[in-house]
Amino acid sequence: MSDILVVGSLAYDSIETPSGRVDRALGGSANYFSLAASLWARVRVVGVVGQDYNEADYKLLQSRNVDLAGLEKVPGKTFHWEGKYEGDMNEAQTLRTELNVFEHFNPKLPEHYKDSAFVFLANIAPALQLEVLNQVKNPQFVGMDTMNFWIEIANADLLKVLKRVNVVLINETEAEMLTRAENAISAAAKIIEMGPEAVVIKRGEYGFIMYTKAEGYFVLPAFPIAKVTDPTGAGDTFAGGFFGYLASRQDKLTVKDLKQACIFGSILASHTIQDFSVKALSKVTLGDIEKRMSEYQKVITV
Ligand code: AMP
Repeated sequence: MSDILVVGSLAYDSIETPSGRVDRALGGSANYFSLAASLWARVRVVGVVGQDYNEADYKLLQSRNVDLAGLEKVPGKTFHWEGKYEGDMNEAQTLRTELNVFEHFNPKLPEHYKDSAFVFLANIAPALQLEVLNQVKNPQFVGMDTMNFWIEIANADLLKVLKRVNVVLINETEAEMLTRAENAISAAAKIIEMGPEAVVIKRGEYGFIMYTKAEGYFVLPAFPIAKVTDPTGAGDTFAGGFFGYLASRQDKLTVKDLKQACIFGSILASHTIQDFSVKALSKVTLGDIEKRMSEYQKVITV
């Protein structure tokens, strides 16, 4: 098993969906990712929170054996995101992004983080993703995520990150925005031209498309969930399941491993969306995943 280093947001989210609303609930790409990946592997977090960050929220990650040596607490307020979902729930509408303590964050990796084999650059400023990646000595497998906010305001840095990763995990609309492609199929092929050897495009209730340089397309539906309470974090959970599974493998990674990793990510994300914030995700066990996996087999098999 290898350790996974993740840099991303640790946030308080205010979210409205047709099922209700929550104010300043725990969120952030690094939180969802870590809770998901720690089911399979040891995770090391790089990030920053403000004085308002609750002790219970540290404890949640600590209870999953997540290494928080690279998580700083500084004067100021924790990252805050406000979003809303309407209609088909596949896309969040951002109402407000307050970077707060992330605005002046200069990550300095603890010494023992620098040998991490797996690195995930979760959704955060591309300049920060680069700063972190530059401090890792010899990463074996690097992934990234991003979103419309960064595609719009930090495109040049984002293109630099894309050149340095093995895999990109990104939402459908954002993949189309990044590549100016008309659909996810075409966007996937265009992202490969930007640097990575694999890209996974997440399509909400419609599942995902993976495209690898070696074998081309791999496409599957999502596990069917009739009532989606809050889709926030589904993408980060997918990435956490994907990376967690890969880091638990002993041998050199194959495309088959990547395919299996997509399925784990997707099954885990189907839990996250069944409650607000990290409520459902923080309770999921490997047993729950196995159970849903066998139901999923029936969904996709003739
Ligand atoms: P997703 O998995 O795409 O639904 O990600 C949801 C999480 O992303 C939320 O918990 C937010 O706190 C976080 N988030 C929203 N906007 C940003 C941003 N611009 N940078 C980093 N994290 C963000």
